[in-house]
Amino acid sequence: MSIVNAREMLIDATKKKYAVGAFNITNLIQLEGVVEAHVDARAPLIIQTSVSPSKFLGQEVIVAVYRAIAGKEDIPICLHLDHCTDVEYCKQCADFGWTNIMVDASKQAYDENIRQTKEVVVYCHSVGDITVEGELGTVSGVEDQVKVVEDESQLCNPDEVMRFVEETGVDLLAPAIGTAHGVYKTKNPKVDFERLGKITRLLNGEKIRTPLVVHGGTGLPDDYVRKLIAMGGSKFNVSTDLKRTWINAVYEYIYANREEYDPGKLDKHAKKAIKAKVNEWIAMLGSAGKA
Ligand SMILES: [Zn+2]
Repeated sequence: MSIVNAREMLIDATKKKYAVGAFNITNLIQLEGVVEAHVDARAPLIIQTSVSPSKFLGQEVIVAVYRAIAGKEDIPICLHLDHCTDVEYCKQCADFGWTNIMVDASKQAYDENIRQTKEVVVYCHSVGDITVEGELGTVSGVEDQVKVVEDESQLCNPDEVMRFVEETGVDLLAPAIGTAHGVYKTKNPKVDFERLGKITRLLNGEKIRTPLVVHGGTGLPDDYVRKLIAMGGSKFNVSTDLKRTWINAVYEYIYANREEYDPGKLDKHAKKAIKAKVNEWIAMLGSAGKA
């Protein structure tokens, strides 16, 4: 129950119109804070690592810590590799024990995206019950967002969705709909809700076939998040928000306690801040009580 892939939890979320938070972590304190908040709320959880922390901390260390922590909790917890553009590294992480892998070949031409995504899907499904997320269209960084929304060709084309899903066999799809990584510079980022709605109707009408992922959760207004869930988004990626929370908490504590040399107190303060931030997300996503 506790160590799981992303399939069942996201099918349930899509059906019941809530979303599971997928939180990027870079250290143990963040991981513990995220897990504790979800255990307290009885919410399903996806822990994410980008490729660089997986190299910095070490794949075997991340998986060992994930198994030790998730294995003793009775809520479903998935370990997800985020935005990996290297097919071989995707396979390696599957071998190490990640339970959900995102192969991001979205910058490749459509047919090459299909080919690479399919290769990872076939591998992950053969070595274990590991789910795979693919991306169609390009989720931009905030700096590119203005450019991207002006150029709709960067967004996911609903006409390309069915063939992509059928030929790759991918378990989850992240369609680019105008959300962006980083911190939005405007209060009203341009998000194409109707595009997500259309893709949902194609894939998840009568039967939930391929749950949909929203990238760039940080800084989206609450009402946008709720609308995106209503339109079919069932996994929300949150990275920058958590990193900022952790760095701000550490900075504040050190600034206020410059003469103190007790890392335990610093960690406790930072973990508390992470838990408070994650609780805000759990409330917004409606995932409390769903595990
Ligand atoms: Zn992303």
